[in-house]
Amino acid sequence: MKVLLIYTGGTIGMVQGPEGDLQPFNFAQVLSHVPELAQLQATVETWQPWEPMDSSEVQPYHWERLAAGIYERRDRYSGFVVLHGTDTMAYTASALSFMLQNLGKPIVFTGSQLPIGVLRSDARENLITSLEVVLQEANGAPVLQEVAIYFEYQLLRANRAYKRSSQAFNAFESPNYPALGEAGVSLQLHESSLWRPTGPVCFAPATDTRVGVLRFFPGMDERLARSICLDSGRDVIILQSFGSGNAPNWPWLPTLLDEGQERGVLFINASQCPMGGVRQPAYAASRTLRHAGVLSAGDMTLEAVITKSMWLLGQGKQGVAFREGFATNVAGERSL
Ligand code: ASP
Repeated sequence: MKVLLIYTGGTIGMVQGPEGDLQPFNFAQVLSHVPELAQLQATVETWQPWEPMDSSEVQPYHWERLAAGIYERRDRYSGFVVLHGTDTMAYTASALSFMLQNLGKPIVFTGSQLPIGVLRSDARENLITSLEVVLQEANGAPVLQEVAIYFEYQLLRANRAYKRSSQAFNAFESPNYPALGEAGVSLQLHESSLWRPTGPVCFAPATDTRVGVLRFFPGMDERLARSICLDSGRDVIILQSFGSGNAPNWPWLPTLLDEGQERGVLFINASQCPMGGVRQPAYAASRTLRHAGVLSAGDMTLEAVITKSMWLLGQGKQGVAFREGFATNVAGERSL
């Protein structure tokens, strides 16, 4: 079996620079810290799509390059492990789940909170177990056939996960969908939670970044809301509402939504609560957002809402086509 190990950067491969801050270093140095890789029953080949970087530098064109690189190499490998910084890992991994559908092979993102050369680092376990996850087979087929994040003994669906801690080894969480698997004495993948291909391989990497986010807060005024929703030239505005999808009775809000919709702006109601999501009929306070034809993000993560919106726009979906695409469960990202 052959696995492609892709190195994009992140803390996992960083060393302390002259000023004491962490900076990326090269792949060979990263791998020299994991001689155990030689014990795997597989050939591990490597690919570096760009100079290793902090993941806060990763942009949608990097997602496209990564998706294209995996797509072009899909027949040569049983699976793919992507080493990536944790800061934007959930964005890149979510984006890939939309750009590259029905691959029928595992793509596992991992990284670490401490560099691989540090004695207490979480990097070696994350890297070795990610490779083992990718190598799991049943009846001649890979057990995992979707994009996932492996971190600190947990395997999560990529488009259901977000970075919950900048300090804990247990950095990622999937608030609205069960873990796909756990690593303990044995490696357990939960068959009933796994996503399966729904058709032939589909490679659709284009994105369009005309998406904005407006986070509600007590005291927010019309001027700020207008500048983000109307003056910024966005096609999609994600409204981060309170609780299960609620908005205050701001008198200017319905007018602003009408005006935006007349200009073709699509509004999405996404909750500020990572767990539970939007249940629009729950409270009278959700009425404004319900009546204005605002789309519900359901129980999706904000990372999935942003990347799915960029991806749908990139596929040329506007108006009704966007609405239908957004409401569809494309890659296991939503259940509400
Ligand atoms: N700043 C780093 C990055 O995202 C953090 C990490 O990898 O944990 O690249």
